[in-house]
Amino acid sequence: MDDHALKPLEREIREFYERLGMKIHQRNIPLLLVNQQEMKKDKARCQKNTVEGEDHILVAHSRDLTIRVWKGFPRLFTGQTLAHEMMHAWLTLEGYHDLDLVVEEGLCEILAHMWLDSHIRSMSKSKMALSPGFDFQKRLAKFLQHDIESNPDTVYGDGFRKMKRATDMYGLKGTLDYIRMTGSYP
Ligand SMILES: [Zn+2]
Repeated sequence: MDDHALKPLEREIREFYERLGMKIHQRNIPLLLVNQQEMKKDKARCQKNTVEGEDHILVAHSRDLTIRVWKGFPRLFTGQTLAHEMMHAWLTLEGYHDLDLVVEEGLCEILAHMWLDSHIRSMSKSKMALSPGFDFQKRLAKFLQHDIESNPDTVYGDGFRKMKRATDMYGLKGTLDYIRMTGSYP
């Protein structure tokens, strides 16, 4: 993934959110591709605002809505992390404040998981489906989804599983409306 490829990917993810009726009402969210060294420096600078704290997390975001993505990862991987980060942005812009961390990260993981599905679906319908790399892409997407589903982390993994149960029952919109009204999840 390089700077050149990041814009089209961002556009694709914004369109995915729009199809869900969740337009992200901020035209410019600065996206920075950074290497490991730069990521460390950024983290030190905005530690208070950075939700992702572990080194293995590949994206950091802060309340000022700058999204930092690690350089050099495959498009599918960068896409799912961007889809995750865009949900933080959407929640902030739509006024979901002070959410429980498990709820917030869980919702972001739900969107990452859904984006992988939608990406594979749209690839299946395009001429990409005929290319030799398609099967690999499909398997990589399944692998990334499995990683989200079985993540042992008590915030990310548990959050995903809790929000998955809620969205399976009440849909994404129903769940988000419920959270907005009550501050808790159904
Ligand atoms: Zn997050």
